[in-house]
This record gives sequence, structure tokens and C-alpha cells, in this order.
Amino acid sequence: MGIQVQSLGKQYGKTWAVRDLSFEVQPGKVTGFLGPNGAGKSTTIRSIVGLDRPTTGRALIDGVRYVRLRAPLREVGTVLDARSAHRSRRAVDHLRTVAATHGFRAARIDEVIGLTGLESAARVRAGKFSLGMGQRLGIAVALLGDPHTLILDEPVNGLDPDGVAWIRGLLSALAAEGRTVFLSSHLLSELALVADHVVVIGRGELIADAPIAELTSDAGRTLEEAYLRLTRDAVEYRGGQVGEPQPGAAGGSGA
Ligand code: ADP
Repeated sequence: MGIQVQSLGKQYGKTWAVRDLSFEVQPGKVTGFLGPNGAGKSTTIRSIVGLDRPTTGRALIDGVRYVRLRAPLREVGTVLDARSAHRSRRAVDHLRTVAATHGFRAARIDEVIGLTGLESAARVRAGKFSLGMGQRLGIAVALLGDPHTLILDEPVNGLDPDGVAWIRGLLSALAAEGRTVFLSSHLLSELALVADHVVVIGRGELIADAPIAELTSDAGRTLEEAYLRLTRDAVEYRGGQVGEPQPGAAGGSGA
């Protein structure tokens, strides 16, 4: 069970976006996927959900390739783009359309509106949504099929402090039900708030795969120091030099 990424590689032209990447995401906990912008997180996620064809290796969900799933939205909920709803459509109508097209029961629409705190915004057109509200609507759509696996690309981006507290509660509750929850972020400070475990990549390669407490446990070490140390270890391991950290690569607030 869970997500298995096995020797995954993806080449665009001469560039390897992801190279020989292997890790597993366990059900029953919230796993963060961390790396600076351009590290290969989206490429990995697209490969997991069948939107990219890997150059090498494979990615499986509960032991099966996504494209082989018979009813994907009942098994895997994804949010890859918080602004995917049609701008002129009200949130509730967007949910109704997805539910109707996939044969989900109508009562589930109110349930996901409740789970994502969208009650007061349900009749607002998606084009008027803030990024944070768009994240909630994306998650509402992802939950419609009551899937066992949830995969979210940068879901904390755009949330205010209330939104961060809400997403932490929601993702922990879903994980406590035994589901697989996998979310990406380029900020360790974000993941430290919501994740139990973290898989770190840099330049398309695995840097760390550890409980979040382990990365941030040393007394006095800030999140930023933990992140820089991870990146430095990985670069030195490959015989390289540590360059200047990318702005916004660690810690701090917002994107
Ligand atoms: P992240 O999600 O961690 O920001 P991405 O997976 O988007 O990283 O990108 C990883 C690398 O692959 C980057 O160097 C990016 O420019 C490159 N890349 C991603 N998608 C494409 C594409 N469709 N065509 C060419 N290069 C791409």
C-alpha cells in the first residue's frame, strides 16, 4: 500500500528533471515532499498520476500504475493546480459537475464543502476566489470520490494562518483514517507544520527520507539551518561545491 517511486527518471531534452529517484510514501501518515523550485517535485507527482511518462523506472499507487486504475478518482485525489476550476462557475456547480460526470453521490458534495470550510463561498464564482479558497476548492474536488490516496502539489501556498491550521487538521484526520497523504512544498517551515515525514529532493535526486522530527530535532537548529545542511550534504556527497542558497529555498514565510 502507499505510493512506490522506483528508480524514476524523467528527461526533457538533455536535462534530467528527475534521476534514479526511489522512495515510498506510507499510508497512515502525512508525508511532505520538499525541494527548492526546480528540484523535480512536480515532475515526480505528474509521473505518479500518469500525466508524465517516465524515461526510466516507474511509480505505483497501492502497487498499480495510475493509468491502470479502474476508477482513478475513487482511489486517488489530486490537486495539481489550485486554479483549475472554470472562473465563471460557482464552486458548488463545479463540484456538482465533477460529481455528476463521475457518478459520485450528490450528498457527498455537501460533505466535502463542510470538510473544506467552503460553506460561505459555495455560491461564489471560482474566478473571484483567492488562492487559498482555490486550494480549498481543489481539495474539495479531490475528496469527492472519498479516495484512499491524496496527492497535493503546494497546497499550503496561499493559505492564511487559519487555512494552515485547517489543512493540518484535515490532512492529519485523513491520515489517521489510514489514508496515504502526500503533499509537496518548497518550504520546510510549511511542511514542519503539517507533515509527519518528509522526502527531500534536490536537482532531481533524493537527499533525505526521514521523520520531520529528525530533521529539526537538534537543539537550537533552525529550520533554515536544517534545510541548508541537507542541501550541503547532498552536494558534497556528489563532490560538488555548495553555492548560494536559492532565495526562498528554506524557512521564512509565504512563497
Ligand atoms: P519543482 O516542481 O520541484 O519546482 P519541476 O518538476 O517543475 O520542479 O522541474 C524540474 C526540472 O525540470 C526543472 O529544471 C524544469 O525546468 C524542468 N522541466 C519541468 N517540466 C518541463 C517540461 N515540460 N519541459 C522541459 N523542462 C521541464
